[in-house]
Amino acid sequence: MSQARPGDAAPVHDLIGIGFGPSNVAMAIAISEHNARSGTREAVTAQFFEQQPAFGWHRGMLIDDATMQVSFLKDLVTLRNPASEFSFLCYLKSKGRLIDFINHKNLFPLRVEFHDYFEWAASQVDDMVSYDHEVVGVTQVVEDGVVEFLDVTVRSGEGLTVHRARNLVIGTGLRPLVPEGVERGDRVWHNSELLTRVEELDGTSPSRFVVVGAGQSAAENVAYLHRRFPGAEICAVFSRYGYSPADDSSFANKIFDPDAVDEFYAAPENVKRRLMDYHGNTNYSVVDIDLIDDLYRQMYQEKVLGTERLRFLNVSRLTAVEETPDRAHATVKSLVTGEETRLDADVVVFATGYSPADPLGLLGEVGAHCLRDEAGRIRVERDYRIATGTGLNCGIYLQGGTEHTHGITSALLSNTAIRVGEILDSLLDRGVKSAPDEARPVADGGTR
Ligand SMILES: Cc1cc2nc3c(=O)[nH]c(=O)nc-3n(C[C@H](O)[C@H](O)[C@H](O)COP(=O)(O)OP(=O)(O)OC[C@H]3O[C@@H](n4cnc5c(N)ncnc54)[C@H](O)[C@@H]3O)c2cc1C
Repeated sequence: MSQARPGDAAPVHDLIGIGFGPSNVAMAIAISEHNARSGTREAVTAQFFEQQPAFGWHRGMLIDDATMQVSFLKDLVTLRNPASEFSFLCYLKSKGRLIDFINHKNLFPLRVEFHDYFEWAASQVDDMVSYDHEVVGVTQVVEDGVVEFLDVTVRSGEGLTVHRARNLVIGTGLRPLVPEGVERGDRVWHNSELLTRVEELDGTSPSRFVVVGAGQSAAENVAYLHRRFPGAEICAVFSRYGYSPADDSSFANKIFDPDAVDEFYAAPENVKRRLMDYHGNTNYSVVDIDLIDDLYRQMYQEKVLGTERLRFLNVSRLTAVEETPDRAHATVKSLVTGEETRLDADVVVFATGYSPADPLGLLGEVGAHCLRDEAGRIRVERDYRIATGTGLNCGIYLQGGTEHTHGITSALLSNTAIRVGEILDSLLDRGVKSAPDEARPVADGGTR
């Protein structure tokens, strides 16, 4: 625990953001637009830290033909400010593709194109971010018995530096998830590393891949590996009977609306659970119907031609995987007969999902101020601020990890533009704007 010293020379940021994925890029844009409107006295000072060397959004899954699962109108800004200069449409205009995009009559751009949009938007607020800077811890600064500031420790090429803030916004995203006991290695991957690891196979002739999982990422991996390695058999292993289509129908899609957050937040716990059960299939363990159709068509065509390379081991579970220097050995058990099949493969890919990064892992001693619900989960206020005891005057906001309180959009892009506006409003409403003499330029931190 640090004790603040009077006249302490460290600059105090109104907000420090951890991570600079789409959520915190949107946050930086909202602040930048607010600052442009409000003038110096009301300007919010913010500094973001991103561990990657440059902006990157799920780079390992930027498969060239994969498309967004969200309308381009749910970009970083439009739902909050349709006149924003940071919109996808402004991006298209700047790239000279606006009219071509319109003629395409398509709401769902390529994922690579949206990545380029994110990069374009992030580059316009890069005065607020330090790349190659990993946040490794947070400590509290106590004045008169109350935590007034948070010191954020950051690791970069320059070693460890400490940066002081009145508020934090944690946007550290998702972590790849593999089943318990599975060790990732040269031949056992999570799908998040697909495109980076696949390069290592250049010049070899893989004969078999096993892909575990039945969600969108799993189906994309199957299709991609099948296309990229024409000599390889692709075995898809999953416990379902078949891939299930994502429900993207209009009424169900309303679960992603900004108003749905209000309703979900206010709903009793059993209703929250029921809503997730009813509408989990808008997002979880489901696949775009076009991709399902493509895979089926491919499988059938191979059957007709006698060139089968796509195998679906359904109602099955991978029970063991073992890696040797040049192979991965998977054991797959049929859930119907209990029969075990051993598959020797070049690579086993686990497309078994992600989980939100645990914010308390970073918060260290500050975590003791965070309140929990009866189930032990972090309590989060409607404004995305972690509920804390009276001993802490700082706001700790979450972008992600709030599915239990705010619903299914927690880790998605759908509500990002609105969410960052709500967080900014909360910061301003709580009167946490720095006193003018403390609102020094971020460059004082000296680590960008
Ligand atoms: C392959 C894939 C496709 C997806 N497609 C869609 C889609 O089409 N539509 C949709 O709505 N959602 C989609 N999602 C969901 C996804 O969560 C969101 O798109 C989006 O990534 C959320 O943004 P974020 O900024 O909250 O998290 P992230 O994009 O995960 O960004 C978090 C950032 O924090 C950084 N970071 C983490 N820890 C630290 C630390 N300690 N210090 C510094 N930096 C740190 C990370 O490096 C990362 O850059 C997809 C997810 C995946 C995996």
